[in-house]
Amino acid sequence: MPLDQPILFQRVPTPPWGDFNDRKYVGYDDYVKADGYAALEKCLGMEPADVVEEVKAAELRGRGGAGFPAGMKWSFLPPLDDGQRFLAINADESEPATFKDQVLIQYDPHLVIEGIAICMLACQLDTAYFYIRGEYHHHREVFEKAIAEAYENKVFGEGSRMGKVNGRVPHLYLHRGAGAYICGEETGLIESLEGKRGWPRIKPPFPAVQGAFARPTIINNVETLAFVPPIITHGADWFKTLGKGRAEGAPPTVPASFGTKLFGVSGPVKRPGVYEEHLGVKLTALIDDYCLGPADGVSIKAYFHGGISMGVVSQDEAEQGVEMDFDIGKKWNNLGLGTACVTVIPEHVSMVAMARNCARFYSHESCGQCTHCREGSKWLYKLLTRMERGDGTTKDLDLLLELASSMGSMPGNNICGLSDGANWAIRTIVNKFWDEFEAVVNKPTGVSLAVLGA
Ligand code: SF4
Repeated sequence: MPLDQPILFQRVPTPPWGDFNDRKYVGYDDYVKADGYAALEKCLGMEPADVVEEVKAAELRGRGGAGFPAGMKWSFLPPLDDGQRFLAINADESEPATFKDQVLIQYDPHLVIEGIAICMLACQLDTAYFYIRGEYHHHREVFEKAIAEAYENKVFGEGSRMGKVNGRVPHLYLHRGAGAYICGEETGLIESLEGKRGWPRIKPPFPAVQGAFARPTIINNVETLAFVPPIITHGADWFKTLGKGRAEGAPPTVPASFGTKLFGVSGPVKRPGVYEEHLGVKLTALIDDYCLGPADGVSIKAYFHGGISMGVVSQDEAEQGVEMDFDIGKKWNNLGLGTACVTVIPEHVSMVAMARNCARFYSHESCGQCTHCREGSKWLYKLLTRMERGDGTTKDLDLLLELASSMGSMPGNNICGLSDGANWAIRTIVNKFWDEFEAVVNKPTGVSLAVLGA
């Protein structure tokens, strides 16, 4: 550390980007000039199973939020039969303040497309769907242009350099979402892809066994797939020289934090943006070295370190040495690394208002299938609204925590993780900023904070 040579951003100017007009789209020809598609060529001379093994050996963990090992996911596919097999690329990127994948989509789409092609070859998936967030209009146009270039150059379609994949001509299609948060959940995404309401499915069966159109389907995040070409080119051992590695004393079976990661930073800092660094970089180093510190006159109170669903870390914790790796949740009492897109919360922002805003988001985005999530998220919002207004009581505060806890992932409670995300977001905010909540519920009831000038 720090990172001398970016892995994903090597063809893209690393932020700060300079003048908007200088931003450069890396088209097919430029990508090839910079050794692009060499990893795919290498895979054409390998057995598909060996490609899967290489990714597995690299211990590449999913970069979308859950951190599940990608190679292991690939190996869950059932043996080939006569039917189709799919790849769905999750470019929904709908966790609030998450914007890391859009940089890859917009500036280096062929890196992502090469990762897609290698995954299709390795897992024998004949058809890929790039499921992109509905609001990403410009990114969609760029990615469609890149797909057209890939077809022109025989990456996909009739005469593909991959030949037949799973006995079929390989294809890549772009599919636009319609802006629902829940379609970032794997099975919600599949339902949406099939043209239905994006309701997450009860699992099992898992998508690798029965996914899109009831056929085996691998779902990977954009950034995860972008790491595949460099891993194939340089090997798993090289990849494992990057990042924090395995926690001291942990057995080899415990998932580790290898490689680099894209970190998005937004909020009142001097230079917000998307930066690539080793997994394990200190949160304070991200803010001070890359973002050049807080904006003038701002002092930082806390961070959503990986999307709101992962909960918060306080500035005190950050100064004690919070590291941005997959073990962050175990050490700092939050849900995990998530998307690693950091939102900076300044000192003057009320954490009660922040919690209320999160609860409002979850109550709006809950798909409504599960009682704990549907009712719980609405009640969280109501309670927090009451508190922020100055009408809350200490009983409300107890009820808030009890309610949030009941929304957690108790077996059988919920179909997907949204409810648990709501639970962690609210509970960590309340527990880590208890004084602020206590202060609002101890105001005289019936008198709003606005009236009190608070
Ligand atoms: Fe829908 Fe919430 Fe249940 Fe997920 S947990 S399926 S969002 S109701």
